[in-house]
Amino acid sequence: MKLILLGPPGAGKGTQAARLVEKHKIPQLSTGDMLRAAVKAGTPVGLQAKAVMDAGGLVSDEIVCGIISDRIEEADAKNGFILDGFPRTVAQAKALDELLAKKGMTLDAIIELKVDEAALLSRIENRARETIAAGGTVRADDNPEAFKVRLDAYRVQTAPVSAYYAGRGTLKTVDGMAPIDQVTKALDAILG
Ligand code: AMP
Repeated sequence: MKLILLGPPGAGKGTQAARLVEKHKIPQLSTGDMLRAAVKAGTPVGLQAKAVMDAGGLVSDEIVCGIISDRIEEADAKNGFILDGFPRTVAQAKALDELLAKKGMTLDAIIELKVDEAALLSRIENRARETIAAGGTVRADDNPEAFKVRLDAYRVQTAPVSAYYAGRGTLKTVDGMAPIDQVTKALDAILG
């Protein structure tokens, strides 16, 4: 199964993707996670991406498309994958169309988690609190200033991605404000 999870930062994409990973035994391919790993490892991509990520902006389409193109070819993605945080611009969505066509792959579902924007900042603050309580390190961009930039990037650059897929009749939406288990059920109903 190959699917895309869309939705603003804090919508719950990561939480739901983790459950889908368990259920369908396919990897979650989060460009955010991959970029954070590159930053941590100090790779050339990481060095290029760090400042823009910390500020909440978007890394170049070229970099993320290259990362995804390579990643979906890996052995663990043979039976499918969940794209989380990609595509984030219409240019990325078009590039994804092209690279899937080239690889002879097709998507099974494109699902958007719809959430009330007013709830997002408190969700991000919660995530930071929970991370600290668990002894982890809070993401450099999980703070109100960077979050505002991330939300703006979402509105301007990523919301049109939903419109792009909706225009093709391939977008399904799920109420991301529902309790976590209910969101999971709604996703299961779509995915069968
Ligand atoms: P995320 O973990 O999905 O919230 O992503 C964290 C940050 O990584 C974003 O704010 C961007 O700076 C960068 N990023 C992740 N995915 C993409 C993407 N598809 N295109 C551009 N930048 C991305």
